[in-house]
Parts: sequence; structure tokens; C-alpha cells
Amino acid sequence: MVTKIVKAYGDHEKDEELMKLAKEIICSGGLVGMPTETVYGLAGDALNPESSKKIYAAKGRPSDNPLIVHIADIEALDKIVEEVPETARRLAEKFWPGPLTMVMHKSEKVPYETTGGLETVAVRMPVNEIARDFIRSTSGYIAAPSANKSGRPSCTTAEHVYEDLNGEIPLIIDGGAVGIGIESTIIDLTSETPCLLRPGYVNLEMLESVLGHVDVDPSIGGVISASAHPKAPGMKYKHYAPKGELYIVEGPEKRVIERINSLAAEHEAAGERTAVIATEETKDYYKCRVIRSVGKRSDEISIAHNLFAVLREMDELNVSTIYTEAFDTPAMGMAIMNRLIRAAGHKIIKTED
Ligand code: AMP
Ligand code: MG
Repeated sequence: MVTKIVKAYGDHEKDEELMKLAKEIICSGGLVGMPTETVYGLAGDALNPESSKKIYAAKGRPSDNPLIVHIADIEALDKIVEEVPETARRLAEKFWPGPLTMVMHKSEKVPYETTGGLETVAVRMPVNEIARDFIRSTSGYIAAPSANKSGRPSCTTAEHVYEDLNGEIPLIIDGGAVGIGIESTIIDLTSETPCLLRPGYVNLEMLESVLGHVDVDPSIGGVISASAHPKAPGMKYKHYAPKGELYIVEGPEKRVIERINSLAAEHEAAGERTAVIATEETKDYYKCRVIRSVGKRSDEISIAHNLFAVLREMDELNVSTIYTEAFDTPAMGMAIMNRLIRAAGHKIIKTED
């Protein structure tokens, strides 16, 4: 199959032809790469079990890992959930459209193929205009997991989608680089106390400002093993990992720089290609040959935005060992570190004063 990348303008009239093509593909059970404000999604008709099966096959994703259903308008919600909880209405008012996914009890309209066999469905309304135009031009219900191959870093550009899915899907809608760069926050609204399942741009404080106390799934940021049972099934899988061995070095900035420099020097002396992931504030202090800045600590969105692209770049650079600083920034630190810890397979080196 030939994979076409077509540029979208984010303007309903200019994108008319493209949306017609996308609709034809989706309505006949095919898949399309779709930009959103978080990461690129691999889109299929959420109400068609055959489309969902194709998504799992294209991603190489385990079939117990449910897909997020994307809608463009709040009115669409009623049809796919048993009942809209009051907590969902309050969150939607504040954060939709936007990078927040809510888990609710599903209605019979949603096939088990889409929910990975669960009685619940995860729903999000993206803010990205191209995504919303696309969703509206189809059945209005788009299942879209991140468009990466299972286990790889998520895609933040159309080119990343092409890298992973060339020859497997007919169309990628190119909406340019995404804004946020990290997947949506997921909150479970089916338990008595709402529970954060995956951290994202909408952080715990923002959620608690609307809901009061929110529980945090113990698997977040902590040790997740295949035998653990995080409530978001996807959180138990190894994810985002570059091919080289990635280590996070934590502690006071000065100590982290010293430790990374000495570790990298050992590897380079042994003839191994080694890389350092640093920030604008620290990059000049490293002596390693390959140094990449992921963004500015003073602008945490820049770190979220670049994280997956830098992890992908590590594969192109063919490095066998990678040392990264930790990015425990105030608002998005939990979300960024959740991805980084999984990318590193929990390999963390702690330094102290
Ligand atoms: P991705 O589509 O790659 O962003 O991954 C979707 C994430 O949402 C995975 O971690 C899933 O396990 C999680 N998810 C989707 N549906 C549900 C659900 N009904 N309950 C809990 N987690 C869900
Ligand atoms: Mg994913």
C-alpha cells in the first residue's frame, strides 16, 4: 500500500478535498494518521470493530490495551457512555476541548474491540481544528491511539508517523508539529473517587481544582512491572524506549553533570557511542561528543514538546548508551518523568550532595 502524506491547513474550505478522502477511508474501515494537539493518532472508526482490529494490527499493540475514542462535540458523548457523570460535565466545561481523556461506563454502541474488552470507554475531545474537522467529517467517533508502533516513542510529526507506518496505512494528514508533545491526561470517573491513570498537560492540581481530591493510580511514576495491574492497561507495557540503553541521572544539578560526564567518558574510552540528553541551561557543561538539548527548564512545555523527537533521534544517531537528566519541572514534571522512566525501563542513577 502506498502511504500519502497530505498537508492540512486547519481551514474547513481549504481542507475539503482532503477531508473527503479521509472520510472515504474511515467509512470503508481503513485507517488514517491524524494530528492532534498532544501527539499524532492512528485513526479508525471507533464504532466499527473491524477498524479497531486493524489499529491493533498496524501498531502491533496487545489487544487488551484499549483505544481512546475522540469526539468533536459534547453532544456526541451521550451515545457512547451509559450515563454522563456529573464529574465529567464539570471537567468538560473546564478542559474540553483539550488534552484530557475521561474514562466512563460504555454504552452498547461501543464495541469491545475498541475498549480492549472493558465495560468502560475512554473519551477525549481534542482542541486541534484539523482533528475536529476530520472527526466531524466521519461518523463522529474516532478511535485513535498514538500513531507509533507499539513500544516506540509517540509521534509528534507526520514524518514520525511515516517512519513507523509507511506502507501500512493509505493516508497521513500532516498538521505540522504537535503543540504539547505528550499524550493526554487520563482520569477514571467510574470509581467513587476519581483516579488519575496517566499524567499529562492537565495536571493533578488542575483536576483537583475542579473535583476536590483525586486519587493517583499507584503505577504512575512508580515501579511498573508486567505483573502490576495499572487501571490503564497500556501503562504496564514497555513504551517510548530508544534502541540504546537509556539511564536517568537524578540529583542536584552539579552532581548530575559530574556523574554523567564521568560515566560518558568511561563509555567513550571503551569505544561506545554515547549521548547525553540535557537542557538549554546545562548543555554547555557536558563533554560528551553527542549532546542534545531537549528544551528549556524555564519553559517546561518545550521539554514535553521535544521529548519524543529527541528519543527518536537517538535511534538515528545509533548510540548504544544514553544518559539523560531528570526533568522534575513544577507543572508537567509528573507527565514528563512518567514517560522518561518508562523509556529508560526504570534505570535510574541517583546522585547526592
Ligand atoms: P494511547 O492511545 O497510545 O494514548 O494509549 C491509550 C491509553 O489509554 C492506554 O494507556 C490505555 O490503557 C488507556 N485507556 C484507554 N481506554 C481505557 C479504559 N477504558 N480504561 C482505562 N484506561 C484506558
Ligand atoms: Mg501510546
